[in-house]
Amino acid sequence: MRHQLSEQELLAKLGSASTGAAQAIERCVHCGFCLATCPTYSELADEADSPRGRIVLMKSVLEGEIELEQALPHVDGCLGCLACESSCPSGVEYGALLGPFRELAERERAPDRGRSRMRQLMLSTLESPKRLLWLTRLAQLSRPFARVLPESLRSSMDLLPRAWPRRCNLPGLSEPLGERRARVLLFPGCVQQVFESDVHLATIEVLTRCGVEVTVPSDTGCCGALAAHVGEVDRARVLAKRNVAALRPAVDDFDAVLTNVAGCGSGLAEYPRWLADSAHAEDANALVAKSQDVSSFLCELGIPQPAELARPVSVVVQDACHLRHAQGVISAPRELLQRIPGLEVCEPREPEVCCGSAGLYNVEQPEMAFRLGRRKARKLVDSGADMVVTGNVGCMLQLQRHLEGHFTSSEHDSGVGEGGLSDASNPLIRLDAIESGAFDVSVLHSRRTTMPVRHTMQVLRDAYRGVLDRGPDRGDPPPGRRQS
Ligand code: SF4
Ligand code: SF4
Repeated sequence: MRHQLSEQELLAKLGSASTGAAQAIERCVHCGFCLATCPTYSELADEADSPRGRIVLMKSVLEGEIELEQALPHVDGCLGCLACESSCPSGVEYGALLGPFRELAERERAPDRGRSRMRQLMLSTLESPKRLLWLTRLAQLSRPFARVLPESLRSSMDLLPRAWPRRCNLPGLSEPLGERRARVLLFPGCVQQVFESDVHLATIEVLTRCGVEVTVPSDTGCCGALAAHVGEVDRARVLAKRNVAALRPAVDDFDAVLTNVAGCGSGLAEYPRWLADSAHAEDANALVAKSQDVSSFLCELGIPQPAELARPVSVVVQDACHLRHAQGVISAPRELLQRIPGLEVCEPREPEVCCGSAGLYNVEQPEMAFRLGRRKARKLVDSGADMVVTGNVGCMLQLQRHLEGHFTSSEHDSGVGEGGLSDASNPLIRLDAIESGAFDVSVLHSRRTTMPVRHTMQVLRDAYRGVLDRGPDRGDPPPGRRQS
């Protein structure tokens, strides 16, 4: 696509990111191959909410053809999932345009104090495990009063796990079992330490069982991805510098710096771009050269085979976008899972489509996030698998929320299609289906509720321990419900 911008103009607006942004615009030939994988386009069927439509809008703003405010609703509505990059035959690096454009937009958009306060509150909470822990506990206690809270706060509360949150103390050093095959640093991140800390414990156990010595650094913090994703790149830079300063001195002594949160992995990979103009640029490159998702690392290292499962279990793999599209990690989690004898690994329909989590998107764009969460839950339930496996804490929370109340058997048995049993978590739709006779209510008593959502490392850990199980049988009543 041609643009009317000189190098100097782009440089003035987008800084050192201007070359990548210009290339993204130039490479787009408007073919539309990306449309099918774009979640917002498939929900809204509006060209302005498609990848190529957004590229045109961003280009038009940069050229001064349209006002920023005209483009913002559509650019803000983008999940940054990068599914469009994976499906683009012309190699358009959409993220190289979106990231710098969002940074520019945050500087130039009309001030909105309410939005800005809410964003600062969310970021400063999510980035600090201590604050997140206490605020989550407070939110749990205030659930009964949720009705009087603003909509944005209410939808964030829906994402909180039902269990009382606890932060576990991760061991600083974990020795390998048997002969040492590798030494790694495990990046602890922020949100996962509070919401899914068992994933860290499972990761450490799997690594040590595979002969890996694991060090968890104590002086790192949030990777910065949450802030950068919404255009707050200066904030992300501060966090990135802190992590580079903390990790760089140790990096040469370790075989790898591992992440087990897809968002952190893709965040670290962005450090060279965020810190390109700073004194930390070289150190950022050295850190990124050693960074890897734990599933790829274990695949390359090779893992011992767990014992045969006591009874067969099937899992459906839902890739996190920041693993599949941003880091290109697709086969590694599957290969690891396939090492477990007795485990069947299934694929969902639309594996490339985002679940709607996407960092702060869930909070700032709750309606679309909700639609995508429901859509994803439907596809996962349709797979007929016993549980969902993924690799990102945000996806785990989003999927748990939308799978709650879903039923694992196929709705086609009862003659209820889209919007019927699939929407069982929506009481109104369920009631409709029941009243019209389209849905036989008795099946509710013979099916399990809620597919468990696990991280790849939790599944592997449980397989090594010999406790991986699919839960109650399909015909069993859910816990606490009497068989009719
Ligand atoms: S597939 Fe690539 S080149 Fe084609 S419209 Fe989408 S972004 Fe542009
Ligand atoms: S990043 Fe995702 S939501 Fe945004 S345009 Fe690309 S495919 Fe669509």
